[in-house]
Amino acid sequence: MSEERIKILGVPVDMVNFDSALSRFKEFIESDGVSLIVTPNSEIVVNATKNEELQRAIQSAEMVIPDGIGLVYASKILGHPLEERVTGIDFLGKSLAYLAETGKSVFLFGSKPGIAEKAGAKMEEAYPGLKVVGTRNGYFKPEEEEEIIAEINAAKPDLLCVALGSPKQELFVLKYKERLTAKAAIGIGGSLDVWSGELKRAPEFYRNHGLEWLYRFIQEPTRYKRMLALPAFMLKVIFKNNKY
Ligand code: UDP
Repeated sequence: MSEERIKILGVPVDMVNFDSALSRFKEFIESDGVSLIVTPNSEIVVNATKNEELQRAIQSAEMVIPDGIGLVYASKILGHPLEERVTGIDFLGKSLAYLAETGKSVFLFGSKPGIAEKAGAKMEEAYPGLKVVGTRNGYFKPEEEEEIIAEINAAKPDLLCVALGSPKQELFVLKYKERLTAKAAIGIGGSLDVWSGELKRAPEFYRNHGLEWLYRFIQEPTRYKRMLALPAFMLKVIFKNNKY
């Protein structure tokens, strides 16, 4: 666990920036047992306040990375300002770069059929030396889980990326934490869709101004309900902090 872990609406978040998150990732990769890395945004934090299992998964995680401008604002309101937003997809890129440098490997589990393979090929191209030792799509029946665990362990990855969306990805790792032999597992949401080229990331302007939500709204207006989560989250943090 990190030296400093704050709680936002009762959900733990580590006071990490890109550099410290990456050094801890390196420690995980060098030590035994699977370390769970979760990257909640404000929507996931709100969900965790209503979903005990998700809350437990986040609490048991070895590293909780703040992936959301809402969490950075909330930390300021709470008087323990986070230095920066550590986006899950950028952290994944830096982690893959480290694995490539050290000749280590990754397994990509999740997203629609064909996506993980495409994403894996792009990752190997972007990070020469990286070994994508296995892929598997994220659509399965509960009775297939045993076979999935066997397939992942047989590939012997150093890092397991789980792209099932939240809370599925966190709950999957929590359920099999004792049996997975990877050194670290990270929930990466829709990152494989982005890596494969199927989904466009917001341009830098939006990202740098905390406006990724606006870009996603323009692309997929039907997500508006999910977007209302951000202002609702900010209000919750403010009211809870002032104990109204
Ligand atoms: N997904 C999956 N299995 C499922 C549900 C979702 O593999 O049963 C994948 C989906 O194809 C997508 C990813 O999970 O690639 C994340 O979806 P979403 O963008 O909704 O997640 P978010 O990052 O917004 O939580």
